[in-house]
Amino acid sequence: MIHELIDLPYSLDSLQPYMSAETLEYHHWKHHLAYVNVLNTLIDGTEFADMHLEGIITSSDGKVFNNAAQIWNHNLFWNTLKVNKWQTPEWKLLEMIESSFGSFDEMKAKFKAESLGRFGSGWVWLVQKGEKLEIYSSPNAENPLTLWGDVLLGCDVWEHSYYIDTRNDRGAYIENFWNIVDWDVVAGRLV
Ligand code: MN
Repeated sequence: MIHELIDLPYSLDSLQPYMSAETLEYHHWKHHLAYVNVLNTLIDGTEFADMHLEGIITSSDGKVFNNAAQIWNHNLFWNTLKVNKWQTPEWKLLEMIESSFGSFDEMKAKFKAESLGRFGSGWVWLVQKGEKLEIYSSPNAENPLTLWGDVLLGCDVWEHSYYIDTRNDRGAYIENFWNIVDWDVVAGRLV
């Protein structure tokens, strides 16, 4: 099967001022598209050619894994964003956040600390394990599909995510990120 770049579920300027149209355009149309194109080239004529993305991710390594996982990671990321003015997590999700981290603010602080502690490129994840939520970071393309199970939220902390908007300041990017998380989508992923 031929893998395709998903459409963004919003216009390029709709996440401003928290994520610029220029960042979205480069991130989606250059970086994400490159993973799609490279994967299609790599799997042509191989055992992975007819597999769905999840199947490739859980059975490959090296370049095939990296490109497949990055497609999946970005699909999840784009589908979790919208400007969330006035929106907070609904009660069930909020209750799990509070029982797992103490408070919504403490969860955000831990998520930010995890992102700042990730050396080099990677992702930060809010993951559900039964009634508990946990935060992890992973290097490069690695994701919860191969590591820990049910992902609720993922944040791209590769430099290409923020260099246009906040230059070298990953922490400022995370602060902006909190304004564009669609908590209804996150709650909808609870198992
Ligand atoms: Mn990215």
